[in-house]
Amino acid sequence: MYFDSLKKELKDKNYRMTPQRELVLKVFIDNENEHLGAEDVYRILFNNKHSVSKATVYRTIELLVEFGFLRKLDFGEGIYRYELAKKNHMHHHFICKICGKIYEIEEKHLDFLKENLENQGFIFEDFDFKIYGICPKCSRKMKKSIVSKK
Ligand SMILES: [Zn+2]
Ligand SMILES: [Zn+2]
Repeated sequence: MYFDSLKKELKDKNYRMTPQRELVLKVFIDNENEHLGAEDVYRILFNNKHSVSKATVYRTIELLVEFGFLRKLDFGEGIYRYELAKKNHMHHHFICKICGKIYEIEEKHLDFLKENLENQGFIFEDFDFKIYGICPKCSRKMKKSIVSKK
């Protein structure tokens, strides 16, 4: 479904859906909850026996960002990660500094901040919060190890 609408959108914008673009986009659709880097995309394609060069993967991803299909994310790791730029689905990210997992935080959790700022006259258009810390899984593990050391 989603894939078809993307294809149509590409066509409407006079962009061609080349097999490579389709493949790269499909990786993101199949891994919807992940935040993949270009290397991950390349590895997934490679493991599925698709021969797309690394340079093509990088170029295609950048193009898909330009088209507005992918959102580019920088978690300060020295690489960019990407996710589908789903319309009407804004969310923020929580990055666990222990396991490195990236969690999605729904927009509504930060509504109070938006409200607060809007009351001061700020107009919100787009926002992208990155919260760094320790995820519930890791914090539970930490607590356990502290208890067992006693
Ligand atoms: Zn964690
Ligand atoms: Zn995300």
